[in-house]
Amino acid sequence: MDRDKILLTPGPLTTSLRTKLAMLRDWGSWDADFNAVTARLRASLLAIVDGTDSHVVVPLQGSGTFSVEAAVNTLVPRDGHVLVLDNGAYCKRAARLTTMMGRRCTTLAFDEAEPVSPEALAVQLQQDASITHVVLIHCETGAGVLNPLQQVADVCERQGKGLIIDAMSSFGALDIDARKVRFDALIAASGKCLEGVPGMGFVFIRKAILEACAGNSTSLALDLHDQHVYMEKTTQWRFTPPTHVVVALAEAIRQFEEEGGRPARLARYQANCEVLVQGMAALGFKPFLDPAVQAPIIVTFHAPSDPNYQFKAFYEAAKRHGFVLYPGKLTQIETFRVGCIGAIGPNEMRQAVQAVGQAMREIGITSMTPGPHAA
Ligand SMILES: *Cc1c(COP(=O)(O)O)cnc(C)c1O
Repeated sequence: MDRDKILLTPGPLTTSLRTKLAMLRDWGSWDADFNAVTARLRASLLAIVDGTDSHVVVPLQGSGTFSVEAAVNTLVPRDGHVLVLDNGAYCKRAARLTTMMGRRCTTLAFDEAEPVSPEALAVQLQQDASITHVVLIHCETGAGVLNPLQQVADVCERQGKGLIIDAMSSFGALDIDARKVRFDALIAASGKCLEGVPGMGFVFIRKAILEACAGNSTSLALDLHDQHVYMEKTTQWRFTPPTHVVVALAEAIRQFEEEGGRPARLARYQANCEVLVQGMAALGFKPFLDPAVQAPIIVTFHAPSDPNYQFKAFYEAAKRHGFVLYPGKLTQIETFRVGCIGAIGPNEMRQAVQAVGQAMREIGITSMTPGPHAA
């Protein structure tokens, strides 16, 4: 087959031809044309969250995690205390990097099949006045759970705590309005719902707290305050920018706007998710999450309990049919994940379901019935 394999993962994602073609030129990092691209990109990112008046956006080289680490390191004073609301793998990663940046870190644990609880957060904040910042993962990509952004933000605002949101897999698709949701920092990246290529993240920082961030960072390369000051002064990135990634993201955002912006992106991902879940149900697969807490970003399915089932063989068979799937990230149960995001629509999702059915037959699985855990 001569089309690229479709990536049904949480990133990198399938990108459009236009986005790929945007990378066929070389740009100088000091060049005014390139710096104008960066400036336009920053303005359009701010517009997507309605944050033009309240926030700045600071781009950063690297994968999304680099920007999460930079946000924590830039926002949280060295004697600060971070509470991470933990219902999955990306939450655990955020807690780990917070500790490694030398900040005091506490986690509040929840079931990975459930959203985090704003009520439990309120209780914890009342019990421990030393907490300065809360970290929330908006869509926990590990299982695919949608967390209650507005309610968590409201609790933090009422109790006067800083809020750092990892919106990596939701930004650009799910509704985030900086005029309604109060946050100090919100992090996303090029290669997720904006459908750019991976290689840069960006952090929205509330203007009111920006000044106070000077000198917090224990890292030169991850200092977002310094990156921002330098960029404002010179229009340039502080260190070598990922030029091809930047121009590809600018082109991806042009297509995002042509498609109808965030609501249109969400509608397409919801359609993808519905086609996927219905098609998989017809094959006999059961999603891990209750539909009420499922974000239309990535779906975790129970693996068949058949002893012939092995993810690796299944993965290879699906790949031969043109679809790249993703392993599960749950600690207790055997699962696999299928992403709904990227430059794909319901047609590709129907083909993906067909490929899953064929792949299962090829590896000798006839019953998709999950193990007793899923009952
Ligand atoms: C993709 C993602 C990240 C970033 O992961 P990288 O591998 O560093 O790109 C962080 N948080 C969430 C919730 C994600 O989905």
